Amino acid sequence: DAKKRQSGSMVYSAQLDVGSQESLSLLGELRHAVEAGELRLYLQPKVDLARGRILSAEALLRWQHPERGLVPPMHFIPFAEQSGFIRTLTTWVIAAALRAWSQAQAQGLELRISVNLSTRDLLDQDLPAKIMGMLAAQGAGSQALCLEITESAIMDDPQRALHTLEQLSALGFKLSIDDFGTGYSSLAYLKTLPVDELKIDKSFVLAMERDLGDAKIVHSTIELAHNLGLSVVAEGVETAKAWKILAALGCDEGQGYFIAKPMPEAQFLDWLRHWQA
Ligand code: C2E
Ligand code: CA
Ligand code: CA
Ligand code: CA
Repeated sequence: DAKKRQSGSMVYSAQLDVGSQESLSLLGELRHAVEAGELRLYLQPKVDLARGRILSAEALLRWQHPERGLVPPMHFIPFAEQSGFIRTLTTWVIAAALRAWSQAQAQGLELRISVNLSTRDLLDQDLPAKIMGMLAAQGAGSQALCLEITESAIMDDPQRALHTLEQLSALGFKLSIDDFGTGYSSLAYLKTLPVDELKIDKSFVLAMERDLGDAKIVHSTIELAHNLGLSVVAEGVETAKAWKILAALGCDEGQGYFIAKPMPEAQFLDWLRHWQA
């Protein structure tokens, strides 16, 4: 790994031992990245598949490294989760998302921003109060945000996760289950969680045009979501055909390269104005 980093490609393994030299130096670099303003908020729209309107966007983190260029989240989020630094990153993302929300608001654009939460965030008892404080500082209400949580983040400690989710739900945040279908959890927990939305993992959506099994999974997930009174979002919409199939199946929203790739926040607002025009 050290070699790969010297060559500039920076492939950090998620398995860095906490306390090892490499782990300490990455932690230091991440701290520095926050202070030096190297983090970037990217936004990717979610489209209403029946009407073509954009009502929300997902916040996706990037690290603009002075030498290594734009570092994708998979190269530092797993480490941040493992080391606990993710809580600092999540706070940064929420603050940036709320600034983007208020810029959109100022331009008359009604937008909800989805933020990804990790296990560590769900186990943080102070998270709901912390988010409320940030909303108040920005003059935003809880309808400004949707919080995306993966099945595995919940199953890590279902009891405590449920407690946090209930608090967040009572405060009015929209809650979404991310990467649905890839976790190992049972379906039974779904009805007990105070969630509003399911996101079908992109692996099923990307394969559904050529694989009948994946198509059936997509179809049944949409029905399951609707039977439970949840809205459903498909990730990985890369083609016009995928949009058409999903719309025909009654899928509520879509997200993917066919609509737009994740964009730097400033670019996103320009893009959105053109799309909605
Ligand atoms: P995710 O939450 O499942 O986010 C969706 C990922 O799918 C994003 O990758 C997005 O760029 C990608 N994607 C969107 N549309 C398409 C498409 O049509 N085709 C394909 N092949 N991919 C598409 P990204 O931005 O690299 O993020 C990867 C993962 O990193 C995220 O997966 C999420 O788990 C994590 N992540 C990103 N930002 C954050 C963050 O702020 N906090 C936390 N906790 N995790 C984050
Ligand atoms: Ca997500
Ligand atoms: Ca996802
Ligand atoms: Ca994912």
